[in-house]
Amino acid sequence: MMQQLEKQKLTPSIFEKMSEHEQVVFCNDPVTGLQAIIAIHDTTLGPALGGTRMYPYETVDDALEDVLRLSEGMTKKCAAADLDFGGGKAVIIGDPKTDKSPALFRAFAQYVDALNGRFYTGTDMGTTMDDFVHALKETNFINGVPKAYGGSGDSSIPTAKGVVYALEATNDYLYGSNTLGDKSYAIQGLGKVGYKVAEHLMEQGATLYVTDIFDEAIERIVEKGKMHGTKVHVVRSEEIYEVDAHIFVPCAMGSILNETTIASLKVDAVVGSANNQLTTPDMAMKLREKGILYAPDYIVNAGGLIQVSDELYEPNAERVLWKTKAIYDTLLDVYKVATNNGITTEEAANIKCEKTLLEQRHRNNFYSRDRRPKWQVRE
Ligand code: NAD
Repeated sequence: MMQQLEKQKLTPSIFEKMSEHEQVVFCNDPVTGLQAIIAIHDTTLGPALGGTRMYPYETVDDALEDVLRLSEGMTKKCAAADLDFGGGKAVIIGDPKTDKSPALFRAFAQYVDALNGRFYTGTDMGTTMDDFVHALKETNFINGVPKAYGGSGDSSIPTAKGVVYALEATNDYLYGSNTLGDKSYAIQGLGKVGYKVAEHLMEQGATLYVTDIFDEAIERIVEKGKMHGTKVHVVRSEEIYEVDAHIFVPCAMGSILNETTIASLKVDAVVGSANNQLTTPDMAMKLREKGILYAPDYIVNAGGLIQVSDELYEPNAERVLWKTKAIYDTLLDVYKVATNNGITTEEAANIKCEKTLLEQRHRNNFYSRDRRPKWQVRE
């Protein structure tokens, strides 16, 4: 006991930081250079599910903070999309352009395998299906691999479709019609999701303002625009928040909605795939006060998750599309609840998820996941 207290004194911040989480696993393999963190937030609804991000975090604390936030978001995302999975996520510390190797992903997969089905993972920002084909050699707890390997294929396809449904629902709510083509959109990030969303909007005749930190990503959409006879307006990275468009579509990094960026925004709504867009929860109120409709990110970007979770029942594209279409109605419902109750859309969405988790905990009362002992609750 004494020893335990001593240990807690040594690392109080980590245990404080992960107080809402069931389990955090630090993965270290000096041979391949692997340094990764797996976070399992909540398994009330089922095994934890969430992608693996690779990013050159400056510090381990930054990586830990990111994985804790992202995994918590996954719990809500699974609940909002009515999936039988809980929330988890992993981050690999490193530059995806220079630090990848098949051996690194096999080493990472061994850590995933050791969790014996408590955590399923696949691609996220900075990782690709090819990376997880290597991982598959070590574990079966991988989703979203190519069809040739028994997976359902590229998960960014339904994610992008989900963003499009969310944009339609937002247009419906704000302007009384779900037509996309007569509006303008400021798109941040033209990667796997952002490019597909931009492509769809372009095909509908919409006006596009875009930015990306990689020139090739911009050139690709500008070329597509030329082929289509559409001019794509390219803006510098920091200018995207100031664009006078109808809707801001963040599809790059999280934590982009803060006091400064919100003050710059001229749009009517924010609807994008990026995870954890609000720097702090109170930013939802800032957006509301400014009259900007915020589509909670974890509802908008659930398409990929719907597809990868569906793999456990054998891939079925039709069912995935059907479930992904539900994002439209879920979002409309959240907008209405928020307006009718004078709360933010983020609060309305969180209440919806909490209700699902509570119902499930009640149904599964034989193995309730409320880990607090009763005496502590009374205290
Ligand atoms: P990606 O890595 O393919 O693309 C991200 C793009 O954003 C890249 O082109 C990158 O250059 C660009 N970018 C990075 N920082 C930027 C900045 N400061 N300004 C402008 N551009 C910047 O990732 P993705 O799969 O398209 O995912 C995009 C976002 O959506 C991420 O936040 C991811 O977590 C989230 N998301 C993705 C999926 C999916 O299925 N891929 C599912 C759910 C959520």
